[in-house]
Amino acid sequence: MFCQLQNIAQRNQEAFILLIQWIILNMANAGMSKHETKSEIAKTSRLRNTLHFPVFSKLPWDNTPSFEYYALKNCILTPNRHWCFIGEVHAKPLLLLRQSVWVRDLEGNDNIHVAFYPETGTFDYSDLKVGNTLCVRYAERHHFLDFTAGLRLEQLDFVMVIPTSLKTLLEISDFSPEANNTYCWICGISKSEKKLLKCGKCNVAKYCSKDCQISDWKRRHNEWCQAIPGYKKLVDIDSDVTENNFDYKAFR
Ligand SMILES: [Zn+2]
Ligand SMILES: [Zn+2]
Repeated sequence: MFCQLQNIAQRNQEAFILLIQWIILNMANAGMSKHETKSEIAKTSRLRNTLHFPVFSKLPWDNTPSFEYYALKNCILTPNRHWCFIGEVHAKPLLLLRQSVWVRDLEGNDNIHVAFYPETGTFDYSDLKVGNTLCVRYAERHHFLDFTAGLRLEQLDFVMVIPTSLKTLLEISDFSPEANNTYCWICGISKSEKKLLKCGKCNVAKYCSKDCQISDWKRRHNEWCQAIPGYKKLVDIDSDVTENNFDYKAFR
């Protein structure tokens, strides 16, 4: 690299100066984005946050240490944040030699092969249905021997299925159930004006009356209700990451 720079300098000193300026500018930008990254993590933990919920193409590879996701702590490569891959199951292979599925991520990439090589933890494979959403904490990209790329899952306590589509999960995230707990989810009346009741199943949705509850159930809550417990686990990543400490957060 340095020899190449020297050659460029000999040929054209002006181009060399421009190149150095470009490198300095990029180093400055890299420093700035690192700073922005940290403040963004503090602001939100929901599904549109691409730092906590990266798409497949942004995940680290499992054979290459990535300092975007890891830091060296006491000479051990340790995550510098919690992250989770989410993808909707859209196909299952016909020949089941091993538990595996194909998933589609948030940017529409549906060429992601997910295969189970269980080493630790438990997982209920009957949840792996087309249309459900697979969530994998600390996911890393893997090259399989059949030249497909995807996720090779070994530690199953970091894997969870939410019984709803990626679209519904995003709708729930955008609505933000955790923030909307002081008024009725249908008519919007506030808890200071009327006593609110919780949905007895998910224990999260709030209503002022039976009528409002029935109306939301017909609208969308029948679908949301079964997804909300999984959603709550998914976004439960309030950062306890410090310079010297990192606790992996399992789903079970
Ligand atoms: Zn109401
Ligand atoms: Zn509910």
